[in-house]
Amino acid sequence: MTFSQFSSYIQKIEETASRLTMTEILADLFSHLDVHECAHAAYLLQGNISPKYRPQQFNFAEKLVIRSLAELFSIQPAQLTQQYKQEGDLGTTIQGLKQKQKSINKSKHTIEVVFAKLVAIAQYEGAGSQERKMHGFAQLISEVDPLSARYLVRIPVGALRLGFSDMTMLDALSWMMTGDKSLRRKLQKAYHVFPDLGYIGTVLKKQGLSAVEKIKPEVFTPIIMMRAERITSAQDIIDKIGTCIIEPKYDGFRLQVHKKGDKVVLFTRGLEVATYMYPDIVKAVQDEVSADEIIFEGEAIGYNPETSSFLPFQLTVQRKRKHGISEKAKEIPLKLYSFDLLYLDGTNHIHSPFVERKKLLRENIDNHNDATKDSIIPAEETVVEEAKRIEALFDDAVARGLEGIMAKKMTGTYQPGTRDWNWIKYKKSYSSKVTDTIDCVVMGYDFGKGKRTAFGIGAFLVGVFDPKNDQYFTIAKIGTGLKDEEWHKLLSLIKPLKVAHIPSSFIVDDLMACDVWVTPKIVVEIRADEITRSPVHTAGRVMQKTKTGTAMEVKEPGYALRFPRLEHFRLDKSPQEATSIKEIKTISL
Ligand code: ATP
Repeated sequence: MTFSQFSSYIQKIEETASRLTMTEILADLFSHLDVHECAHAAYLLQGNISPKYRPQQFNFAEKLVIRSLAELFSIQPAQLTQQYKQEGDLGTTIQGLKQKQKSINKSKHTIEVVFAKLVAIAQYEGAGSQERKMHGFAQLISEVDPLSARYLVRIPVGALRLGFSDMTMLDALSWMMTGDKSLRRKLQKAYHVFPDLGYIGTVLKKQGLSAVEKIKPEVFTPIIMMRAERITSAQDIIDKIGTCIIEPKYDGFRLQVHKKGDKVVLFTRGLEVATYMYPDIVKAVQDEVSADEIIFEGEAIGYNPETSSFLPFQLTVQRKRKHGISEKAKEIPLKLYSFDLLYLDGTNHIHSPFVERKKLLRENIDNHNDATKDSIIPAEETVVEEAKRIEALFDDAVARGLEGIMAKKMTGTYQPGTRDWNWIKYKKSYSSKVTDTIDCVVMGYDFGKGKRTAFGIGAFLVGVFDPKNDQYFTIAKIGTGLKDEEWHKLLSLIKPLKVAHIPSSFIVDDLMACDVWVTPKIVVEIRADEITRSPVHTAGRVMQKTKTGTAMEVKEPGYALRFPRLEHFRLDKSPQEATSIKEIKTISL
């Protein structure tokens, strides 16, 4: 397929707000692609040239992209910047400039050719690489038609946001095969152990569904992490899963460790590669994990060797940084409390019972049973039959500065990408009626009045996710309770995500409209006193036609957070991992 044809599909996607129509367009696109083009198209649609968990950095600053394009059109970079700021999208500006050119290019470049050129541009390194990138990119833009140019320029600057998630892509692959979404569950199962849409699309087209169903975990490809259900009484845990294993719930951050020989790669919950951030953990894995090929998970938590105690989350989280890594590693040493094993020396263990996975994990960690010496430590475990014992373990964990406990079903399998009763978290909150925090996605913000005008932000709108329809529904607008530095941090995170129009995946009541809309990306953990019902929020809201049938009215109000306050920024979570409407319903019971 030519890149020009591919761009027409992108245009159709851009022009629709309906998820179903998007699914159909994507399905049509994939059915017309050759097998070898599937991966290229899947990555390009996500605005990159590699799978999401290993994004290719273009290292090509927006300023340089503008300079190279200004040169191409023989205008001043400042003029191009001004024009682009006015229009709000560099792609449209470049498309317009190309349309004004005398001879409009009818490019015959295939997707494959354009992809290869983008890869070459991204990979230029060393002396003179910026010049080569600029030259190569301007050359590529000169070779394509205006519509292709519109989408191509958005790729290196990270602005090709088509507003659909990986789940819509899976629906589209299903639609391509069957004309409906019936294969979504099966495809999603494969995606959870191998979250590479390019790979899944290729296998599906080339070898069919049965081959996709056989996709297995591989070292260095992250597995989407399993999550825990929540319960608020020890007795409920016993009633639900019977005799079980209790582990402390360490309050740090989760890592999935992939090791083959001496090579170690660490993935965060959001599937980002974090290897370079934690050289101490990498070294500890090399020294203390005996298995040659292994995938396991644990919670990294700051540890004070002098007092043999855990550090609070606020300190542990300071280890997440891009600079000054080794100094911080000395100041805040980490321990990795390891709680699960998913793969070992060629065998996929996600279907093995938890007791067996944990046993294998223990066997593969060289331990001195001495927290001052060991850095990779199997999570403590106790088999319990009675609620009373669970309460005692919970009190003990809290007294040690931990968050609570995790109860694990002895025979439970590992369920990638799923919140499952095989793991139950039991945390207590003394300060509010809502026992758990809510992970919300920031959807937009208002400029604010008075003192806040100086900040540039006065309130922000947050919502929860509906995985079924790939949509975000509002649950609170938060305008108080943040410290000055938190407002600054929030603004610095969301300002670059500004979009010209409300994303089609946002379901927002007019009364909650924002001055600025942002791409769904930033997740914030919100604590609230209560979950109430409100007609102005759309989470869980049910609408019906008015008696006259000409308009819509609220049948059941939505869910809203009372006295919401920001607890943490959850940069480790993707927006699709935000709390779902279904969970809100359970929490509010
Ligand atoms: P929370 O905000 O309550 O930590 P979450 O939404 O981040 O929850 P969940 O999957 O619901 O994630 O809760 C489980 C999390 O608890 C894991 O992701 C992991 O980071 C952490 N954790 C701490 N100790 C353990 C343990 N022993 N076993 C499993 N997970 C643990």
